[in-house]
Order: sequence, then C-alpha cells, then structure tokens
Amino acid sequence: MVLRNKDYGPNTTAIHAGETPDAETGASVPPLHMSSTFVTDRVAGFSAHDLKESSGFLYGRWGNPTVGMLERKISALEKTEDCLCLASGMAAATAIFLTFLSAGDHAVVSDVSYAGVAELARDTLPRLGIAVSLVDMSDPEAVAASLQDNTKLVHCESPVNPIGRLTDLALIAQLAHGSGALVSCDATFASPIGQRSKELGVDLIMHSVTKYIGGHGDAIGGAVAGTAELIGKIRAESAIHHGAIMSPFNAWLIARGASTLPIRMKTHQQNALQVAEWLESRNTVTKVIYPGLKSHPQYELAQRQMTNMSGMISFQVGDAKTGTGVAQNMIDHLDVIHYAVSLGHHRSLVFWMETAGLMETSFRLEGKSLESYRQFAGDGVFRLSVGLEDTEDLVADLAKVL
Ligand SMILES: *Cc1c(COP(=O)(O)O)cnc(C)c1O
Repeated sequence: MVLRNKDYGPNTTAIHAGETPDAETGASVPPLHMSSTFVTDRVAGFSAHDLKESSGFLYGRWGNPTVGMLERKISALEKTEDCLCLASGMAAATAIFLTFLSAGDHAVVSDVSYAGVAELARDTLPRLGIAVSLVDMSDPEAVAASLQDNTKLVHCESPVNPIGRLTDLALIAQLAHGSGALVSCDATFASPIGQRSKELGVDLIMHSVTKYIGGHGDAIGGAVAGTAELIGKIRAESAIHHGAIMSPFNAWLIARGASTLPIRMKTHQQNALQVAEWLESRNTVTKVIYPGLKSHPQYELAQRQMTNMSGMISFQVGDAKTGTGVAQNMIDHLDVIHYAVSLGHHRSLVFWMETAGLMETSFRLEGKSLESYRQFAGDGVFRLSVGLEDTEDLVADLAKVL
C-alpha cells in the first residue's frame, strides 16, 4: 500500500504516503534502514550513470529506503512526480542552482530570501561565471525587465523570510516560462499545506524540511519536489556527485513529523491569527505583518494564493534601538517562547532581525528595493514562529515584554 500522487485527502496522504508495513515483520511503523551499502544479487555498474529505476538499492548516497519513504511522502503532499531529500534546506537550494545553471547562464533570484540563499546567489554563483539579477519578486514589471535570452532559472520565495512579503507565483511562472526559464520556489514558510506550488506553475518546489515538514526542531533536512525528469537530474548531480544526502535517521524523524503536518498547520494558522490580532492591539507594537491579517499589504494575493496562512508573523516595535532593547527583554523574561532562530516547530520561537545589519551581511538593497523591504520591515522585525502551545499562554508571555 504505497500511496503515491493519488486522490486521498491531505491527512491521509501525510500519514500513509510513502509508507508500507514492513514486509518481513509486519511492523506498522516503517523501518529505519541505517545501512550505507546493500547486498546485491547481480553484477552492476559503479557509476551514477548506470542507475536505472529498476536498479534497486546499492549504496546509500544513491538511494536509501527510509529516505525514499520521506521523498514519496513529500511528493505526494506536493502532488509532484518525484522529490529528492538532501542534508539541509541550503543543500536543496545549492542543488537547484548547481544542477540547472552553468557558466554563461543567467538567473533571476529574489532580492530578499533566506539569508544563506541570498548570499549563495550574490557571492557564489557569480564566482562560477553565472550572472545573477537580484529582483523584487513582488514587482512583476521588474521581473519581466530582468529576463534575458540566457535566463535559465527564476528563483523566488513566498512568503519570504523574514519579512512575509508574497510573490504572485502564477504570474511570475507565466513570465519565466514565456522566456524559457525554469521556476523554483522556496516554499518553506508556506509548507505544502499553505500553497499549491505546482498548480501555480512552480517547476522546482524547495523546502527546508527542518521547519514545518519535520515540525519538531530535532532534525535538519531539505527537499526539492518536481517532475521525475527534473528531480532525476538533481539526484544524479547533487545527491550522487555533490553528496549532500539526507541521513536515514533524519528522514525517519522528519517523516514521523510530516505525518501530522496538515493538522499542525491548521493549529499554527489559528494560533498565529490570534497572536497577530493581539499584537495589532498593543500600543508598543508599531506594525504587524501576517498574510491572514487584512492589514497585510498583499492581503488579496494571500487570499487568492495561500491555502493556509501558516504560523509566521513579523512585527515591529519602532526604531532599531527599541528593537534591540525588547529583544534583550525577551531573552531575560520569556518563559514559553524560545528566543532562537529557526521556525515551524511545535515550540514558539522568536528572533530579532535588524534591517541595517541584514543589509550589510545578506541583502545589500538600495533604492526601490530597499524601500519595498522597509515597507515590510522598517528598522527591524521580530520574526515570530507561532507554535502549537495554547494561545493564552503565548499572549501572556509576550505581554511581559510588549
Ligand atoms: C531555514 C531556511 C532555509 C535553510 O534551511 P536549512 O535547513 O537551515 O539549511 C532556506 N529557506 C528558508 C525559507 C528557511 O527558512
């Protein structure tokens, strides 16, 4: 009973897809195969190029049954043909860039993205002879103007970390496909429940599965979902040659977390909306950005594009000095919410991100791009990942510092 791309509901899919009771023992829980190599009953080739669908398992970097289970689960949730799991979200982003871009190519990358991805696109890709335009993906005219004959990839992120700005994915996909480029989207904030990325035209759906998909903050991993052809290319190039594969133990933990993804996302959304409304009511809070709030500058797009608003809120308290002070108060006084990076866990997490610092290290925006960033982030934002605790307890914790 391997459910794959069938018409089951999201809960059934999350729980059962990719899994099957253990053939040998009947164990209901899928086994964890911590084996680097597999005994084979035939003489086989020893290269990634010899691998076929029918090859079976030979070596753990080429494929592992426990990692395969998680890959089938995620591709079923994303309704794509295939998925590749990697060691981290960063490994997934690197896999996309290095598989589909070569020296002489051009890529259009969101001018705001997860900081590591922004730095990779800005610093590493040009060093390899790949030209990169960093563009505000919420501005379709800017995206259209940036496309060139040699543009091979348009990489966006929606909602974007850490400011919660959205990209109209259907529109950007139409523009990119019109000029022959592939579209990748980092959908970590939305999770497979918050956004039907494939239906919107995204070719390569990327996740840091460290976040919502794993959901418990105990394992780092990444994933890319898409057609069998595109994922096959990434598998040969990045898993087998670059080698950033996911550990079977992490895959097992993340698959267990993924089983409850749809019900967790419901609660994340419900809690986040309540916390966001409470934040909006506080005099000490100057701005709240949450796609589920009418005050979000792209509320209409959020309603049209998102199927769950997720649990990510960003809010401001005034200038950078005030922000730094509140951050220190959080460190000193919060009991329930952890002051820590990362997001999408059952535990609530909060972290202060000052605009000036991020501009220096990661984004380096100027002019209109900086204006758009500041429209969402001002002098700095608190990124709050609303967890699954009781909302009254979260609000009581925040009330101590806001
Ligand atoms: C965390 C994160 C990443 C990086 O993922 P890792 O698993 O930490 O490597 C990429 N994109 C987004 C949106 C993230 O939040």
